[in-house]
Amino acid sequence: MDSEHDQGRPGVPRRAFLRIAGVSAAGAVVAACGPGDPAAPVASTAPAPATSTPPATRLPTAPPNWDDLRSQLTGNLLRPGADGYETAKQGFNQLFDGNNPVAVATASTVQDVQACVKAAAGRVTIAARSGGHSYAGYSVPQGGLVIDVAALNKVDVQGGKAVIGAGAKLKDVYAALARAGRALPAGSCPTVGIAGLTLGGGIGVLARKYGLTCDHLSSAQVVAADGRTLTASAGSEPDLFWALRGGGGGNFGIVTEFTFDTDPAPPELTVFSLHFPAGSGAGVLGAWQQWIAAMPPELWANLVLSGGSPVQCRVSGCYVGDTAGLTTLLNNLTTNAGARPTQRVVKPVDYLGAMKYFEGGSNRQSFVASSRIITTPVDAAKLVAVADGRPGMDLLIDGLGGAVAGPAKDATAFWHRDALASVQVYATATARNRAKVTESVGDVVAGLAAAGAGGGYVNYIDPALPDWKTAYYGDNAKRLQEVAQKYDPHNVFRFGQGVIS
Ligand SMILES: Cc1cc2nc3c(=O)[nH]c(=O)nc-3n(C[C@H](O)[C@H](O)[C@H](O)COP(=O)(O)OP(=O)(O)OC[C@H]3O[C@@H](n4cnc5c(N)ncnc54)[C@H](O)[C@@H]3O)c2cc1C
Repeated sequence: MDSEHDQGRPGVPRRAFLRIAGVSAAGAVVAACGPGDPAAPVASTAPAPATSTPPATRLPTAPPNWDDLRSQLTGNLLRPGADGYETAKQGFNQLFDGNNPVAVATASTVQDVQACVKAAAGRVTIAARSGGHSYAGYSVPQGGLVIDVAALNKVDVQGGKAVIGAGAKLKDVYAALARAGRALPAGSCPTVGIAGLTLGGGIGVLARKYGLTCDHLSSAQVVAADGRTLTASAGSEPDLFWALRGGGGGNFGIVTEFTFDTDPAPPELTVFSLHFPAGSGAGVLGAWQQWIAAMPPELWANLVLSGGSPVQCRVSGCYVGDTAGLTTLLNNLTTNAGARPTQRVVKPVDYLGAMKYFEGGSNRQSFVASSRIITTPVDAAKLVAVADGRPGMDLLIDGLGGAVAGPAKDATAFWHRDALASVQVYATATARNRAKVTESVGDVVAGLAAAGAGGGYVNYIDPALPDWKTAYYGDNAKRLQEVAQKYDPHNVFRFGQGVIS
């Protein structure tokens, strides 16, 4: 057992919690100098709406009156040079610390969000920020207004429902759910925001059993581009409700509150981690792909390939059931993997314990990343070869299927219902080596496509992904664009990979 296992962590040190997440900054340069030039009026470049409610009148383009807006807010509004601005503007990915928003507003109420949107629409780029974990720094737009909703963070669990403020972080969501004996499938990093996670789908260690986070959404409160507050649900603004479930954060309005259907917390879970000998990745991955496809939904697992020569390989996961049941399932993998694990941890936990096992750390990081999707087993040797000789880079392959595959591909905006796994490409980077790392991540993404993994996950947003709109949304892209044009006819929430583009 290694030291990480002693701490109850399954593997890769600072990157472990990115295993399920995605990270994306390969197009960091695009993001840094993309939308948000305050001198560029938003309305004048917006496409004509296909359908629109309300009517598309021209928006003002003069700079916002910041003093007036500040006086309307219960929270702060910080401009460059103000005390606290440098800290207030920071997102999770340190590569974007050079982004300088024109203002950072703290919204403590829905009315604060409305006031910000009304004051800035058409005048400067607007981006909501919840957990701040956008891989591409999209929640800290250069020259734009950040509307930080972190203070809207209540988590109220009543019976089978959880009403969660858009600013809540996963660690607070899990703690409140666990206290109430309830569960919601969601991601692993404790400081990821429920908002960005849900809006892009939400992949986590209980996904094969319970589905995506967005599959549990029953309604959302949204401040639209014109400042109105809307309720999106199956019976109210159904197009918007469809789009909010996988269409990606930042596109359709600013969500202030989510209501989720929850499940009873499973009484018994078992987590595990297996380290395989260096160089055994191709055999293990070949077996893993067949294995995960055949496993019951109670079992979720991922496989991490750590670049370098030779490539390192480990498999971790979570089983909704007891240790004996898991052991039988793991034996199916290890007998076909062509190598025996050198380290093996199997540990019974409760629901909160399982969430903590995968959480890694919450320190800010500096990285470039991207993703692809595997729908049918790919040539494992080819895929592993892509990672060979790339120290500092991980390929994090997260099993999907099970309950994720339940809804039809067009039932929600989340397209990858038929995925066997997502592949996240994650590489640490500094300001100095960013261009080189970005190129390396791009090469790996191309290599994955050549090995048979196409597509991409919008929550691992990558401004450099060549076919990004189709990759994230498939045939849902057209409808998403129509919904965005309906609710944001002037494209006031524009950003580098906004669906209106
Ligand atoms: C360390 C780490 C671990 C991760 N783990 C997982 C994981 O386990 N599973 C998984 O699926 N993903 C994971 N992710 C990816 C994560 O889901 C996305 O990065 C997500 O967009 C982050 O949401 P956020 O609220 O923290 O980020 P933010 O940067 O605040 O927002 C992301 C995007 O959504 C927009 N947005 C933010 N708030 C709102 C709102 N209230 N209304 C409308 N739009 C909004 C922003 O403008 C931005 O475009 C992880 C990311 C990181 C960095």
